[in-house]
Amino acid sequence: MSITTARKRYFTAELLNWHHNDNDRSLPWKSEKDPYKIWLSEIILQQTRALQGLPYYINFTTTYPTIHHLAAAKDEDVFRIWQGLGYYNRCKNMLATARFVANELNGQFPGTYDDIVALKGIGPYTAAAIASFAYGLPHAVVDGNVYRVLSRYFAIDTPVDTTEGKKQFAQLAQDLMAADSSSAYNQAIMDLGATVCSPRNPSCALCALQKNCIAYKQGMTTMLPVKSKKVQVATRYFNYLVLEKDGKIWLRKRGSKDIWENLHEPLQIETQKLVDRSAFTALPDVALLGLKEINYAGKDTQRLTHRIIISSFFTADVPGELILPEDGRWTDKKDMNKIAYPKTVLDFFKKNNYIIS
Ligand code: SF4
Repeated sequence: MSITTARKRYFTAELLNWHHNDNDRSLPWKSEKDPYKIWLSEIILQQTRALQGLPYYINFTTTYPTIHHLAAAKDEDVFRIWQGLGYYNRCKNMLATARFVANELNGQFPGTYDDIVALKGIGPYTAAAIASFAYGLPHAVVDGNVYRVLSRYFAIDTPVDTTEGKKQFAQLAQDLMAADSSSAYNQAIMDLGATVCSPRNPSCALCALQKNCIAYKQGMTTMLPVKSKKVQVATRYFNYLVLEKDGKIWLRKRGSKDIWENLHEPLQIETQKLVDRSAFTALPDVALLGLKEINYAGKDTQRLTHRIIISSFFTADVPGELILPEDGRWTDKKDMNKIAYPKTVLDFFKKNNYIIS
């Protein structure tokens, strides 16, 4: 389907008009020009909604006001501030990039798209956002919001998760962007997608682009954008045994071969299905410990993009010596708030007063 130049111009004019006159979405990083802070906000907002990311952005920019502060921070402290955002690889890459920019580039954040996209943890979307917001460079962002707005306004049904779809939408987004106001254009389309043209119930009645939106006129908003395949979601069952001895809790750091790398957790045993207290107690690794009494302490479900984690919690007091994996250690309860945990573990510790926040 070919889109005329006039129609493209009309879209951009309507979008920018809405942005300048009626877009009242106010977020602290929107008026920011410091590339370091823009980069921080973009890393925090990958896979995270703006309102959820906001307190993290404030905490990071207050604790580490410059890239040198972040680069010099201890991993453990940064992970603790990141705690709750999930996707810990983002945090790991963020630290690596901060140290690279601080040490190898003398603290100067790169100023071209190609140099920005070459940094660790930065893909085309984040690079375009930083390039346009910090330097006004003409690079259009393309993300879920953009796919949604463009596929609906122009009624494009090419699946957005195919090579063809990605190419088509990237080219269209670039064509539509007003080169002299790339920052406003990118901000506008992201905000429209996040606040008006939302995934399930778009507010078409209030939308400034309604008059020329084909999906709206033809009643197709819920059919667009099109995806060719569904995400396969697997369920995993984690069983946590919280061992307590003399006011200390046994904790280990998760390794690099799985989710939640470098975060701490109690003794964990994964099973193929949900187990109750008696089935858990009978697991060979648990039975070997020879504990007198194990109590069931609750269950929590955490949804990630490709998996659902169901965590069951059990507790036990340890009277004497126990043979436990070598990678763990007994941690004083008063020090437990200094350590980073997966969200599900943190919630359990807080709810059950292991950690007083
Ligand atoms: S009219 Fe509706 S579908 Fe079209 S751009 Fe606006 S919110 Fe989205």
